[in-house]
Amino acid sequence: MNTVFPWREAPEFETGSGFAVIGDPVSHSKSPMMHHAAYRAFGLPYAYHAIHVPVGEVDYALDHLRSVGYKGINVTVPHKEHAWQWSRFPDEVSSRVKAANTLRLHDGAAINTDAPGFMDTLDDLGMPPGRALLLGAGGSARAIALAMFQGGWHLALYNRTESRAHELRDQLGIDISITSTADPLDCDLIVNMTSASLQNSQLPILWSNASPDVVAVDLMYSTEPTPFLLRASGLGLRTSDGLALLAAQGARSFEWWTGLYGARPIMAEALKNAHR
Ligand code: NDP
Repeated sequence: MNTVFPWREAPEFETGSGFAVIGDPVSHSKSPMMHHAAYRAFGLPYAYHAIHVPVGEVDYALDHLRSVGYKGINVTVPHKEHAWQWSRFPDEVSSRVKAANTLRLHDGAAINTDAPGFMDTLDDLGMPPGRALLLGAGGSARAIALAMFQGGWHLALYNRTESRAHELRDQLGIDISITSTADPLDCDLIVNMTSASLQNSQLPILWSNASPDVVAVDLMYSTEPTPFLLRASGLGLRTSDGLALLAAQGARSFEWWTGLYGARPIMAEALKNAHR
């Protein structure tokens, strides 16, 4: 668990060497540990804090953090949409998905590193574009569906509340087929972008239609495999949890702020050690 600062009590920086993650809650975030590992490896005199920002106070908090010397902010649940609204210069991806997870405070620029970070993890798995079944239609799903579509994937989307899946397609304006059954027939990849595992719930996936080569990816991570990954690995499928995305999105934020490349393996290693 992190030391968490309420935003009004955030430590101050004179030299713009401060970074932070904001969220509500934020005590569980692995970002401070991951970014500190990169600062150590690159010899950077930076600090990265976990800062609690309640819903409704994002604008005030970001303006305050800028005034006390913070250079960059990561944004986690539930503030990504608000962070995008605060931004003055959002990039194309964050504008299309209406969510930003990485901010540069001095000029109000914003990017979304969940989307390209997820594509990094598919590269690691050695997966060229193919057919994917996506589960979920929340904020992360918007970013990942857009990135995969732009990366040449053929996408089918299942969501518990089907109307939200239609909203996602309309909002992004991409070619994605909405399905009322979670059927992985002919798919190369299944991505769980729901928070069902948080409630320990199983998703209604027609696992018997999955080919033995399909890869199952869950955005969630925890010390124990999620119910989704347990089921997939029980069927002998290749699986990957959300730690890979956590490191990939964090490294892309770090690169954007510092101009330095190569943080991803350092962050991934730090996460792996913390999970041992
Ligand atoms: P949202 O709250 O925006 O969306 C939640 C989604 O989960 C909705 O599609 C919702 O369906 C679905 N859902 C929730 N409970 C159930 C259930 N019991 N059964 C079926 N579907 C359910 O969340 P996010 O998109 O922000 O995040 C989704 C997941 O991804 C979270 O677990 C989060 O921790 C993880 N994540 C991990 C990251 C990483 O770095 N590894 C980065 C970002 C997210 P409905 O519309 O019907 O309510």
